[in-house]
Amino acid sequence: MNVITGYLKDFASLIFPELCQACGDSLVNTEKHFCTTCIYQLPYTNYHLVPDNRLAKQFWGRVNINAATAFLYFNKAGKVQNMMHQLKYNNQPQIGEELGKMFGKQLKETFPYHLAEAIIPVPLHPKKLIKRGYNQSETFANGLAEILQIPVVTDLLFRDKAAESQTAKSRSSRFENMKTVFKALDNQHSYKSVLLVDDTITTGATLEACAFALQEIGIKEINIVGIAFTE
Ligand SMILES: [Zn+2]
Repeated sequence: MNVITGYLKDFASLIFPELCQACGDSLVNTEKHFCTTCIYQLPYTNYHLVPDNRLAKQFWGRVNINAATAFLYFNKAGKVQNMMHQLKYNNQPQIGEELGKMFGKQLKETFPYHLAEAIIPVPLHPKKLIKRGYNQSETFANGLAEILQIPVVTDLLFRDKAAESQTAKSRSSRFENMKTVFKALDNQHSYKSVLLVDDTITTGATLEACAFALQEIGIKEINIVGIAFTE
C-alpha cells in the first residue's frame, strides 16, 4: 500500500469503520475481520484433539472416515451464525480464508490432519456458485492450505449435472440422492490421505457422499474438516 492509498484507507475507516464479522462492533487498528473479544469467546470445538468426538461418531456405521473435526460449534442466533451469514450471503470470501488460517494454526501440530497430501473442498452447486461468485468451502480450504502448506485440489471431486437434475425429480432419500450427485475423477492422482472440507456440517449426508466418491478412486484416508458443526 502506498502513502496515498494508506491515507485514503484511514480516511475511509473514519467514515466506514471496519466491523467485527461476528459481533458487529467496530474494530481497532490491529484487529482484522474479528475483534479480540470474539476471538477469545468463539465456541471452539477442539475436536481435532478428541478422536472420538461427536462429529466423528456421526459417521460411524455410515462411511469409513479417518478423522473428523470442525472449528466451531454453530450456535443458532450467535456469533458463528453471523459470520457464516457474512461468508455465504454478503460477499465476504475473506472470512472463510481467515477462519482457515486460524484453524490451520491449530491443525498444523495435529495428527493426522497435518499429514494429508491434498485439501479438497466440497463442490458448490453450479447455480449457487454463479450467484455467490465463490465457493465458501474453497475459501476456507485456501486459508488452511496457506498455513498447512498442503495444496487445494478442485479438479478431482465434482457434481454430476445429469444426476443432479435427475435427483431433483426423484423421491428417494436425501442420502441416496446425494450419493449419485458427487463423482470423483481418477486422473492418475497419487493421494492416499486428504482433508475433505465443508462449511457448516449438519447431517453429514453431503460429506458421506463425497467420501464414498473419493474412496472409489482409491483415496483411503478421508479426514473431514468443517468450519462449523451443528450438534
Ligand atoms: Zn466481535
